[in-house]
Amino acid sequence: MEPIEVGILGATGNVGQQFIHLLSNNPWFRITALAASERNVGKRYSEACAWRLSADMPAAVRDLIVQPCEPGLNCQIVFSALPAGPAQEIELRLASAGYGVFSNASAHRMDADVPLLIPELNGAHLGLLAHQRESRGWDAGFIVTNPNCSSMGLTVALKPLYDAFGLRRVIVTTMQAISGAGYPGVPSLDILDNVVPLIRGEEEKMATEPLKILGAFEPTSGTLVPASFAVSASCNRVAVRDGHMESVSLELERKTSVEDLIRAFAEFRNRPFSLGCPSAVEHATVYRAEADRPQPILDRGAGRGMAVTIGRLRPCEVLDYKMTVLSHNTIRGAAGCSVLNAELMVAEGLL
Ligand code: NAP
Repeated sequence: MEPIEVGILGATGNVGQQFIHLLSNNPWFRITALAASERNVGKRYSEACAWRLSADMPAAVRDLIVQPCEPGLNCQIVFSALPAGPAQEIELRLASAGYGVFSNASAHRMDADVPLLIPELNGAHLGLLAHQRESRGWDAGFIVTNPNCSSMGLTVALKPLYDAFGLRRVIVTTMQAISGAGYPGVPSLDILDNVVPLIRGEEEKMATEPLKILGAFEPTSGTLVPASFAVSASCNRVAVRDGHMESVSLELERKTSVEDLIRAFAEFRNRPFSLGCPSAVEHATVYRAEADRPQPILDRGAGRGMAVTIGRLRPCEVLDYKMTVLSHNTIRGAAGCSVLNAELMVAEGLL
């Protein structure tokens, strides 16, 4: 198969750089267009971007000229790492001009006809695209989104438990990395020696996105019926570079044992891996039995950053059980998921 030509919107930002890193090693895609804000349009990418990943900037993108985020990009699909504000209009314009848009932004996540996709969990939601194209009058273009970086880790960890035992209530407290706020993000004087107990808009996303993701797609009506458990989230920014940690308490529909819950994580299988998608890992949920895991510096790279690590599963004195969840926010929680969304569409013959 010839690689599909792809563009990156917001290519100079934290998530944009992670896209470049992941896509430069991907056999199914080739980067042919990079786009960012007006202030960088016309510059060589190596001049426009303050590269912040430990892996070097790939040679193939250094001399690409940064373009405006508009139709005219030389590619079939775009990965969007734009802030929500500009993403709102830009993504619609590109989709209506025929581009497949895979977005990390929150702008269209909760639109009724837009899949909010975690490919290991809810690939069936791609069925929404037929309705999306029909109702919006788009021939080839579409928008597929992936969730907020904290919703991502939580929802992947909940999925095996939801399927096996059902969920009634979830209480989650996050400890979120600085890179989740983009660049330059949180000023150092606000975060060093400190914890900031507010990330605007985050708690609302965590209360709603998991319900859409774990909802059921009804092919006859082309609609989603959301899951109906309650999520209460408290979100905090902590002085960690990458990796969102979450303390989760949950109440189940059907009572079980700690051993059965751990077995559900171990037995969780995913379709993108069985289809041979290059970014998929065999175990999307990894349970660590050590008493003091997961930890960001030890576990954020699990499964090349695509696995969600769970630990400390134990009875909860208020709900049924509690556990600690960790995921890499710019890989699993952003660019890695978006690339896997596109791979799933290729593997399913939808691209
Ligand atoms: P970031 O580091 O601030 O990067 C933003 C990018 O968007 C830059 O390339 C910037 O270009 C470009 N941009 C800003 N305003 C623009 C405009 N008006 N028109 C065109 N381009 C514009 O942000 P980020 O952390 O990468 O996040 C990107 C998106 O992913 C956000 O929607 C965020 O919520 C979402 N997300 C982030 C994470 C994470 O862990 N960081 C996780 C999940 C989802 P210039 O450099 O030219 O200004």
